[in-house]
Amino acid sequence: MGGPEKGIEMFVRSVTDGSMSDEEVVRFLRNIFENGLNSDETVLLTKEMRDSGTVIHWPEKMRRLIVDKHSTGGVGDKVSIALAPALAACGAKVPMISGRGLGHTGGTLDKLESIPGFRTDIPVKELMEQVSKIGVAMVGQTGELVPADRRMYALRDVSGLVASVPLITGSIVSKKAAEGVNALVLDVKTGKAAFMKDRASAEELAYSMKKVAEGMGISTTCVITSMDNPIGHAVGNSLEIVESVETLCGRGPSDLEELVCVQGGLLLNSIGLAVDRRHGYTMILDSLYDGSAFGKFLQMVRAQGGDPSIFDSDQDMFAGLGLINPELHSTDILSDYTGWISDIDAVSIADLCLNLGAGRSELGGSIDRAVGVVIHVGIGSPISTNEVLATVYHRQKSSDLYNLKKAFIVLEEPQFPASRILGVV
Ligand code: URA
Repeated sequence: MGGPEKGIEMFVRSVTDGSMSDEEVVRFLRNIFENGLNSDETVLLTKEMRDSGTVIHWPEKMRRLIVDKHSTGGVGDKVSIALAPALAACGAKVPMISGRGLGHTGGTLDKLESIPGFRTDIPVKELMEQVSKIGVAMVGQTGELVPADRRMYALRDVSGLVASVPLITGSIVSKKAAEGVNALVLDVKTGKAAFMKDRASAEELAYSMKKVAEGMGISTTCVITSMDNPIGHAVGNSLEIVESVETLCGRGPSDLEELVCVQGGLLLNSIGLAVDRRHGYTMILDSLYDGSAFGKFLQMVRAQGGDPSIFDSDQDMFAGLGLINPELHSTDILSDYTGWISDIDAVSIADLCLNLGAGRSELGGSIDRAVGVVIHVGIGSPISTNEVLATVYHRQKSSDLYNLKKAFIVLEEPQFPASRILGVV
């Protein structure tokens, strides 16, 4: 078979043409997961994955404006859903290829598919037309775009093979390189609910992705962000669409809005639409408050087969997203203590959502888009005994739901929320 290069080439080709069985693919991935790859091998893996399908070439006059953002996976992470339309409202072009839920983290595609009719499997030609016309499209890997990642990602998800620097680098950078982006921002999460638990491993991943992406001609900035507590208040597919719409209308939670504006600002600056990051931040913020980002979101929903009229009123939105349904129960989780919230454990919340059916436990498994958790407090919130900490949306009644209390740590002294942004690489 030759050296490791030949092995990687053959591997990606056999993943794509289906000549390797799922068991063989998992064995190869496990080997990379356990033993790593050196930087030349990581570049090769990424290039082979990119070339497993179509690589988009944009007309010269648009190329400079093509940008994207990707996160390494979080809990309650709906940044992309607000950011992509906001960037388009500011003049950037965003052909975003997103992923499905992975491990305990949610997936942008699963969230978007809560919108009835919304198609994420659109052909490249249609994707290019949509981005040229309205500036934004949010799609998944298809048989055409990075098909190798589609299969590898799904198998890693169900085999516990996610937290690997070369595998995450290959997965994320191959998708962005196939989109033909000029500039990229990568949200590298670190903390209890991130795949990279400590700052050092998050930075290792950030440097790996930056090096590989820049080697492919993509101007890349990595933002290291904390992922101990859920982002915003909603966790669960339909519930996160509601919170994304709130954010697109200037009513989002402050931590989510900050992530959207910082990452968008960096991108607008990278492609010269903003004079510096601060200017870019303000442009994105304005688009959330003046209705232009929400307008782009509605255009995207229509272009991808969804019905934008479900966003005409809150009542229409809840009904359209399947949240008004007699089979969907809600249970309030009450505090046993009085004090200030000092921690909200995102892993416990994500695990509960997985158990409720919001994520997949087997390859190709179906998910329940309506279930999830709405958190009524944040870090630093004052809380009294018997006040509501969170509301769980679920199908079956179960006393296990009340274990969620343990995710909320209450201290007697006042606590103060910190920015999620830890550094920029
Ligand atoms: N997001 C991806 O697209 N791939 C990974 O491997 C992890 C997060």
